Amino acid sequence: MPMYGCICVECGHYETIFRHISQRDDTPVHCSQKMVRRVEAPSVQVDIGGYNSPIDGQWIEGKSARREDLKRNNCRPWEGMESEKKEAKKRAAEADKTFEKGVEQAAYNVYNNMSAEKQRAIDNAA
Ligand SMILES: [Zn+2]
Repeated sequence: MPMYGCICVECGHYETIFRHISQRDDTPVHCSQKMVRRVEAPSVQVDIGGYNSPIDGQWIEGKSARREDLKRNNCRPWEGMESEKKEAKKRAAEADKTFEKGVEQAAYNVYNNMSAEKQRAIDNAA
């Protein structure tokens, strides 16, 4: 993720932020106002230093270890609230689909385990 420099026009406080390019103007607030992004070439973070995974406590060093950590724990990087809401909706829709499939399969199994006589009775009722 690219890194950007932001400056508070009120007090001159400088901060470094990491953002997707599309969200680079989503700057922090300082002295009750949005910080201004400094115009400079964005630099890409080369790699990340070691840290203990907040998920399972394992030592994580480097981006690939971070990706593994997220994958191992069925997690994703935080991408903002909008993105989280979208993902939650998607997962709920998938769960609904799986449930409906299960119900359909169960009904199918019950029907197939019935005697031919009962199946005929149902077919005639439908
Ligand atoms: Zn300030």
